[in-house]
Amino acid sequence: MKTQLLTPKDTSRAARILRSGGLVGIPTETVYGLGANGLDPLAVRSIFQAKGRPQDNPLILHIPDPSWLELYCRDIPEAAWRLARRFWPGPLTMVLRRDPAVPDEVTAGLNTVGMRCPAHELCRAVIEAAGVPIAAPSGNTSGKPSPTSVADMLEDMNGKIDAILDGGSCQVGVESTIIDMTAATPRLLRPGGVPLEELRAVLGEVELDPAILRPMEEGEKPLAPGMKYRHYAPKAPVIVVKGSPARSAAYILEHLSPTYWDGVICFDEFADWYPSHPVERLGGALDHWENARRLFHALRAMDEAGVKRIWAQSPDTAGMGLAVVNRLDKAAGFHIVEV
Ligand code: AMP
Ligand code: MG
Repeated sequence: MKTQLLTPKDTSRAARILRSGGLVGIPTETVYGLGANGLDPLAVRSIFQAKGRPQDNPLILHIPDPSWLELYCRDIPEAAWRLARRFWPGPLTMVLRRDPAVPDEVTAGLNTVGMRCPAHELCRAVIEAAGVPIAAPSGNTSGKPSPTSVADMLEDMNGKIDAILDGGSCQVGVESTIIDMTAATPRLLRPGGVPLEELRAVLGEVELDPAILRPMEEGEKPLAPGMKYRHYAPKAPVIVVKGSPARSAAYILEHLSPTYWDGVICFDEFADWYPSHPVERLGGALDHWENARRLFHALRAMDEAGVKRIWAQSPDTAGMGLAVVNRLDKAAGFHIVEV
């Protein structure tokens, strides 16, 4: 299959491909998604094929307007509407009870569905033109870092999908925050583009799913099925070094091997500490939004540089830091050094 590269003026072409059961790479403010008509079971199945995605990992249903929620969800709590008013359109996914109108293929058979109204103008225009909700996970091959540019998405999906719509590079850079609104107390399933502190400001109490900060044990099931898989990972193994930025930078410098081709992902302040190794910058140590924006590309760039091992500095968990820490920990398979 030849993958067409579409430009922003081709939104109606993208919508036509989606309506006829095809797969389109779609820019969102978080990462590029791999979209299909969310009401077409066959089209949704082909997403799993293109990505090599495990069958039990549900997709998110994207809608252009919060009012569409009622078409696909039941028993929507008042708090969910409050979140929609505050954060939609935007990088927040709410898990709600599903309406039978949503195919099993989207929800992997769960009785809930993840719903999001994205902020990216092109993305909303495509969904509106298609006139159907768009089911989409991130547009990477399963297990790899999510794509934050057309080039990154082409690397994984060229020849496997019908088209990719070029919407520039993604502003947020990590996936949406996922919050389960079906429990008595709302529960954060995945940190992302809306920080936990902002959710708590609207909802009061929010619980953290244990899968966010530690690996799952044998037989333990995270509520977001996707959290149990190795994910966001480049080919080379990653070692995350936690502690104050100055201490972690020094630790990496001490442990970098001269004989082994090591790469470093670090904050800008330390980028010239490792002149004989491939280095990718995460932005300033205190700029967690910039860290999020750059993280996935940095991981991919390390593979392009051909390194055999990656050392990465990690921010603290405040604000967007929590999402960055979560993605880095998972990319490293929780291979973490505290210094
Ligand atoms: P991706 O954005 O590629 O990570 O894929 C969507 C994510 O949403 C995966 O981590 C899924 O496990 C999660 N997800 C989608 N629907 C649900 C749901 N109904 N309940 C819990 N998690 C969900
Ligand atoms: Mg994904």
